[in-house]
Amino acid sequence: MNAGSEKQYGGLDRFRIMAAILVIAIHTSPLLSINEWADFTLTRTIARVAVPFFFLCTGFFFLQKLGTDRSRNASMLKQFLWKVGKLYLLSILLYLPVNVYAGYFTDGFTVFSAVKDLLFNGTLYHLWYFPGIMLGVCISTFLYTRLSTWNTFWVTLLLYGIGLLGDSYYGLAQMSPYVDSIYQSMFTLFDYTRNGIFFAPVFIVMGGMTANNRRRKKKKITPYAIGFVLFGTMLVMEGLLLHAYQLQRHDSMYIFLIPCMYFLFQLLLFWKGKNRPALRKLSLYVYVIHPLCIVLIRGVAKVTGLTGLLVENSLVHFTLVTVLSFVLSVIVMKVIQHFRGGKPDQTGRAWADIHLPHLQHNVREIQRVLPKDCTVMAVVKAQAYGHGGWQIARFLNKLGIDHFAVATIDEGIELRKKGVKGEILVLGYTDERRIRQIARFKLTQTVVDDEYAKKLNGYNVKIAVHIKIDTGMGRLGESWERTEKIADMYQYKNLQVCGTFTHLSVADSLEALDIEYTKNQIARFQKVIEQLKEKGIDPQKLHVQSSYGVLNYGELQYDYARIGIALYGMLSKQGDKVKTSVDLRPVLSLKARVVQVKQLETGASVGYGRAYTAQKDSKIAIVSIGYADGVPRMLSQSGATCLIKGKRRPIIGFVCMDQLIVDITDMEGVQKGDVVTFIGSDQEEDITPEEMAHQCKTITNELVSRLGERVKKVYHD
Ligand SMILES: *Cc1c(COP(=O)(O)O)cnc(C)c1O
Repeated sequence: MNAGSEKQYGGLDRFRIMAAILVIAIHTSPLLSINEWADFTLTRTIARVAVPFFFLCTGFFFLQKLGTDRSRNASMLKQFLWKVGKLYLLSILLYLPVNVYAGYFTDGFTVFSAVKDLLFNGTLYHLWYFPGIMLGVCISTFLYTRLSTWNTFWVTLLLYGIGLLGDSYYGLAQMSPYVDSIYQSMFTLFDYTRNGIFFAPVFIVMGGMTANNRRRKKKKITPYAIGFVLFGTMLVMEGLLLHAYQLQRHDSMYIFLIPCMYFLFQLLLFWKGKNRPALRKLSLYVYVIHPLCIVLIRGVAKVTGLTGLLVENSLVHFTLVTVLSFVLSVIVMKVIQHFRGGKPDQTGRAWADIHLPHLQHNVREIQRVLPKDCTVMAVVKAQAYGHGGWQIARFLNKLGIDHFAVATIDEGIELRKKGVKGEILVLGYTDERRIRQIARFKLTQTVVDDEYAKKLNGYNVKIAVHIKIDTGMGRLGESWERTEKIADMYQYKNLQVCGTFTHLSVADSLEALDIEYTKNQIARFQKVIEQLKEKGIDPQKLHVQSSYGVLNYGELQYDYARIGIALYGMLSKQGDKVKTSVDLRPVLSLKARVVQVKQLETGASVGYGRAYTAQKDSKIAIVSIGYADGVPRMLSQSGATCLIKGKRRPIIGFVCMDQLIVDITDMEGVQKGDVVTFIGSDQEEDITPEEMAHQCKTITNELVSRLGERVKKVYHD
């Protein structure tokens, strides 16, 4: 595994732009003034890959996140629909003036026609895509979470088949008056079968299937290239034939589009390269905006009397619409970015950017590798490892996580006060005199031995507890050998035991001896559990693994896994190997600012203790972060670097309490206010949390949990 690296879907992101251009082609017919058949081939066959490609992408990214937990799936679906729904609504509003101008509200407008358009046709010709993808994702999700993958595929393929007969193969349907009448009645509900019911689902499901298959085997590119060329050719021939025999009612759906899309999508996955989320947005905006550009250019042509050149010359028209669409889209993107405050607070001194989508991604990745009935217990102690305790817990609540672990009662109380729902297990020891608070805030307390259990019980306050067994960690918990004492801990009337757990001490190591030690710990735990059961005691929910426990001992079957560090997208140490491959993305980036730039002459020294002396005339930047913010004082002594303007530069001298100094001798243009990155990426360079922890001679867990209070957390969704 390579923690910190994102899966690379640069190929998909780039092809989105090509797909957007193909959609513009469909709506402008670039070759029409040259040759009608050439234009048909381009826009009614080849370009028909564009929209299915978008469906496949959606399926690829959405369906792979689904699991077996229905309520979680439902909440993800809701999230998706909300996101797309908002866009759809905005697009409808954007095109209202065009609708008005085109007489949409006067020519046969009824409530029924409006509902039809909203659900299927779109209120303008290209907007069918939004209800299409929403409906398609609903149907696919419904089937995908109930049927086997292949059965889901067959069902959606059947839907596609029905759609075909109302689209390119309508001529066949018409041969039977009976079948034709069925289609006629369908067409009172929607204008085309190219919609969210018949067209979208099969591609969405294919995307989901591709995502699931990808993890298994390494593949060669050649068969996919051949497949694509072959089926692409068939697709074109199919389209031309149907057109020649005038069987088509519409020309979106073809038989060969299915295999063609399969091979195309596989090919694009071979196309590596950095993810380009901006291209994703851009293609979407172009999709939404290009009909507006068509209207604008026609308007300009009319006013200037240049219709012959600007509209009737189809190539010129297409080119103009494309360029204008992209220019407008980029402008819109910039404006939105500006108002969203995409740039961080310009006055910030030292801050941590928290990327919530990465947290969500990590949760899904971990859930993907957990056994079916194992639930994530999110460990959010120490302010969620420096990410902000309640903010992270509340976000996880939204993702359907409702088991949490904290270290102290006060951490638990803070979560409750901020409205975090679900079970909150206090892993550490709580003075028994605070038992009323445990009860009042509905916390679950870890019981560490029989003596403690007895004391807690003595207060006559009912609380929920988990029993902790020490199987070799040598820390909290009743020793696994003291079976009588352990059994006693389940007998107290005021302690409602909800779980039993232990903690592994070397689950992160793949050394033979360590594996043996871990297996021994697990065996001891099992023995305790069996003995309890023999005595007729129900140990309730069981949990053993933390992050490394899951990554290295994924085959274990317990009720919860207590996940800390992996949630935040990190491993503890750089270069750690683990057995289960998961794609983790660091949630946190750590940044500060250049507050002064100055020259140093040869021999001048820098900072406390004159720990650094310039060997030549140099330039330095003073940066507004120090050890009180969590950057260890000794950091510079290990040759640590940070990023300024996308370049790695060494930290020099001792790190001070509030500032540190960076050598920028060979750099031009560094100014006050420039952002300095300690964890995270800046242009092409990237410092992983594992790398910085390594420089600090510690593990990422310590590094992030010690970030100072002054480091402001900026949440990005
Ligand atoms: C901190 C802690 C965890 C989480 O460990 P990670 O390695 O960060 O996943 C789990 N269990 C206990 C008892 C802990 O103290």
